[in-house]
Amino acid sequence: MTPGPTQIRENVLSARALPATNPDLDYEFFDFYKATCERIGKLINAKHPFYILSGEGILGLEAACASLTEYGDRVLVLDNGEYGGGFADFVKMYGGEAVVLKFDPTKEIDCDELSTFLERDNTFKYATLVHCDTPSGVLNDAERICSILKKHQILTVVDAVSSMFGTEVAGDTSDIDILCGASQKALSTPPGLTLVSVSTDAYAAMDARKTPISSYYCNLLTFRDYYEKKLFPYTMPIHDIQGLSAAITNLEDKRGDGDIYTQHELIAEGVRKALVAGNLSLFLESGFSPTVTVCKIPQGLTCEDILRRMNDTHKIMIAGSFGFLEGKVFRIGHMGENASIVNVRATLLALEETLTTLGFACGDMVSVFDDFVH
Ligand SMILES: *Cc1c(COP(=O)(O)O)cnc(C)c1O
Repeated sequence: MTPGPTQIRENVLSARALPATNPDLDYEFFDFYKATCERIGKLINAKHPFYILSGEGILGLEAACASLTEYGDRVLVLDNGEYGGGFADFVKMYGGEAVVLKFDPTKEIDCDELSTFLERDNTFKYATLVHCDTPSGVLNDAERICSILKKHQILTVVDAVSSMFGTEVAGDTSDIDILCGASQKALSTPPGLTLVSVSTDAYAAMDARKTPISSYYCNLLTFRDYYEKKLFPYTMPIHDIQGLSAAITNLEDKRGDGDIYTQHELIAEGVRKALVAGNLSLFLESGFSPTVTVCKIPQGLTCEDILRRMNDTHKIMIAGSFGFLEGKVFRIGHMGENASIVNVRATLLALEETLTTLGFACGDMVSVFDDFVH
């Protein structure tokens, strides 16, 4: 029950074990790859075409920065969490100047504050934003923020790795130029694949570069014409993509009931109500992501003790956090396959026992959760 990697359904594992063709040479694979990318786009109502890259989610973030950044480019890095500021490292690595704009980490990015800043300073080639900053669990309004940035002709890069498929990222009219997702969070496939969509404006900026992109793996241009040329920049991990395709089918089937996002919302709100009823304090004041909940460690207890008892006695893995939140909070992931009432209920029951045993006066969480979700 961590915020990713998440549990993988049997049919996804089986699909990865099926025989496969040669993905470099068999034209049918190009059709399969293209169809899979299109299904991702349709599932999240994306505006721009998707590509599947061979590499864990971080690859998309670095590829966006590598492909857009030229020496001396100014890049606005929006930061109200942990991954937010992390973009600055990629920007600098590729020769850009990262201007980090910090916001209150206990709530979603304040759009008025951003607008005011942009009135004074807006000569940025692009801006980076994290939709759900997983270590703190904050969810930013990507659609609104990107539309504000676009008014100033600033390209936008959004890390939606831990929100995509668990909540709406932004619809088909959104101003997101490069949108990054990954396989191992709410899609519930093993880690190893990056999903990235690229706008024509972003491609135009790459075409207009005076210097070549100083990476091969992180060069998004190498994927642009793969279908017409029947050529991938490197051999595609076909078994991983077979698994991904099965996971997409699982989500498409759920979509029939129209409720992947509603299910995540319901469970997340139930978890928040339960934790509060248990006398615990949530880290955030507002901007709660429906994919992960972040809770302060009660006074006198340590994160390590809580995680260890959850693991050893109850065989349930929850997570601590890192960066500025290390040791201060624990996190329950409820995304993808983990976003089930049965899983979350068992987690809360175990947490109740764990906290009580460790000496904390924990209130009844499970019945509050049950009442809310039923
Ligand atoms: C998981 C995640 C990534 C991918 O990085 P990991 O190596 O899996 O930690 C990127 N961005 C966010 C916001 C994530 O939650």
